[in-house]
Amino acid sequence: MSFDTLSTLTQLLSLDAIPGFEGPVADVMASQLSQHAMAVRRDVLGNVIARYGSQKPDALRVMVFAHMDEVGFMVRKIEANGFIRFERVGGPAQITMPGATVNLQGSKGSIPGCIGIKSYHFSKGDERAQSPSVDRLWIDIGAANRQDALDMGIQVGTPITLNNPPRRLGNDLICSKALDNRLGCTALLGLADRITGKELDIALFIVAAVQEEFNIRGILPAINSVRPDLTIGIDITPSCDTPDLADYADLVINQGPGITCLNYHGRGTLAGLITSPAVISWLETTAAKHQIPVQREVAPGVITESGYIQLQQEGILCAGLSIPCRYTHSPSEVASLRDLQHCIDLLAHLVLANAETFPLTAKALRSPL
Ligand SMILES: [Zn+2]
Repeated sequence: MSFDTLSTLTQLLSLDAIPGFEGPVADVMASQLSQHAMAVRRDVLGNVIARYGSQKPDALRVMVFAHMDEVGFMVRKIEANGFIRFERVGGPAQITMPGATVNLQGSKGSIPGCIGIKSYHFSKGDERAQSPSVDRLWIDIGAANRQDALDMGIQVGTPITLNNPPRRLGNDLICSKALDNRLGCTALLGLADRITGKELDIALFIVAAVQEEFNIRGILPAINSVRPDLTIGIDITPSCDTPDLADYADLVINQGPGITCLNYHGRGTLAGLITSPAVISWLETTAAKHQIPVQREVAPGVITESGYIQLQQEGILCAGLSIPCRYTHSPSEVASLRDLQHCIDLLAHLVLANAETFPLTAKALRSPL
C-alpha cells in the first residue's frame, strides 16, 4: 500500500511520549523504517537510526532527523487527598494549563485526568484573569486519596501528556497536541517510503531522536554513531499569520516548509544555528527546480538540535526544514498537511540527487589536512 501521510500522522499523534519515554513512538518508527532499511538500531538513549543508500566507504554521509518526544509533565507529589502535583518537562505553554485535559502513563495503563482550575463562580476579581503558576496547579484523576492514586498505577515519576486528539480544520489544516514533532516523524517515514526501490548516491541515515524538548542534545550519541557530513533536521516553527504575530515575521502556514536561516535561544542556553549560505542556496535551488514552495525563516527564541550538532566532530554542515505551526507547545497546535507534503517532496529530491549537488564543503571538511 502506498504511503498515507494523514493516517501515518494520525497514528503517531495517538501516542504519548514525553522526553525519556519515547518508546511508543520509537516502536512505530523502528518497525516502519526497518521495512526497507539496510539496518536499524537503537542506541542506549533510545535514538532510532536507520541506514539506507550507498555502501561505498567514501560515500557522502547524510543524516535526516526529527525528534520523537513531546512537551509534557511528570508527577512530583501525590497529595493525601489524591490530587497530583506535577513538574513541567520541556516547555508546555503555562497559560494553557488550567482546565486542560491530560493522560498519565501509569504502570497499569493510561489514566485520564484534568488540570484543576478554581471554580469560576467562586473566583474573585483578578483570579478570573490570572493563570496560576505550575506550583499552584494540580491534576485531578478522580482518586479519593493517595492510596487510591497509587492503586491506579500512578506514582512519583509517572509521565503525563496533554490530551487533544487530532481534528481536521479547513484548508488542509490539522489541530492536535504533539504536532511538534510528529509532523517531523511523519516526514521521516514519508521520505523512507519515497526512496524505497531507488538507488542512492549517498549513504543516508534516517534518525528519530530523543529528548529534544528536554535538553535538545539527546541526538548527540547518534551523531557519534553516524558521523555525518551533513544533517537535515525537521521540526516545527511558529507560524506568523495569527493576529498576534502577523507583524513579526514572514513565515506562514500553507506556503511550504521554512528554511532556517537563523535560530537562537538566548535564555541560558546561548545556542542556535546560523545556516551556511551554501546550504541555504542548495535547499532553495532544489526546491525551485521541482516547483516546491519554501520560505525563509529567522526565528529567535527557537532552538533545535542543530545548534549542538554543528559543533561536533570537525564541524558538521546543518540544514533545518521547519513546518509552520500555530499555537506551539499548547494542546491545540495547528499545522498544514500541504506543508508536510511539500517537506517530504523536498527531502526526497534532496537525497535522491547525486552527491555532487550537495554543498561541496560537506565533503571537503572530511579531507585530512
Ligand atoms: Zn520540536
